[in-house]
Amino acid sequence: MTLTDTHCHLDSSEFDADRAGVLLRAEQAGITRILIPGVTRSSSLAAIRLAESHKMLFAAAGIHPTEAADFDGSTLGDLRKMAQHPKVKAIGEIGLDYYWDSAPHGFQQKVLKEQLELAGELGLPVVIHFREKGDAPDGECAQDLLKILQDWTERLRGENNPLAERPGVLHSFSGSAETAGRAVGLHFYLGVTGPVTHQKTRQELFAALPCERLLIETDAPYMSPVPQRGKRNEPAFVRHIADKIALLLSCSVEEVEAATTTNAARLFSWE
Ligand SMILES: [Zn+2]
Repeated sequence: MTLTDTHCHLDSSEFDADRAGVLLRAEQAGITRILIPGVTRSSSLAAIRLAESHKMLFAAAGIHPTEAADFDGSTLGDLRKMAQHPKVKAIGEIGLDYYWDSAPHGFQQKVLKEQLELAGELGLPVVIHFREKGDAPDGECAQDLLKILQDWTERLRGENNPLAERPGVLHSFSGSAETAGRAVGLHFYLGVTGPVTHQKTRQELFAALPCERLLIETDAPYMSPVPQRGKRNEPAFVRHIADKIALLLSCSVEEVEAATTTNAARLFSWE
């Protein structure tokens, strides 16, 4: 039995009081790998420091679209330096956020594109965040994102960059079936989070997708799954997501664990 949580903000202050206990419970729940994404330069560094402290922890470095104000002339150089660290396995989380709209769309797109170029140069996959205005199931944000990802992966293919076969993950996927299909067509994985345990639209969406394209993630401390809703989320709860996917896909939990663990290892190149 082995589980992977491919998205946990373990550097969040909500874990300050009991981080060691959180990791112990994760181990007891069978989790062997956790990816901690960065959202700013300082949180990317915090993720790397944490990753150094435990064998099951890995980090991603990147600037989240709601933190685009942290992106300036020196950011790419700083991220490039961080990415040299052996525990950094991805660039992320990066993307577009038209829900909070904390930076103009054009600037968000520029910040995303430049980080995608960096990922291509470094051969690191990307962890993508996207959120529509008003949380619509589909809209401008998905359209803009898919266009950018399509252009990027086409360029990777043109350069024979092996990253074209494993470009990244659309984390905590909440888009439409059409967006899911197009992302899978570009060889992206889709990250499944807590809402799959209680949202019918997500259940229907993931039930129609092959296990080979799915990753399971908590996005802790946010997005707690049933039966932990309303509480702080933590990596041990990723088990509830695996259980739900097994039900939806009518397969065994062991199959879901094995597939999602293999998918994560392939995407992030860890043992
Ligand atoms: Zn996140």
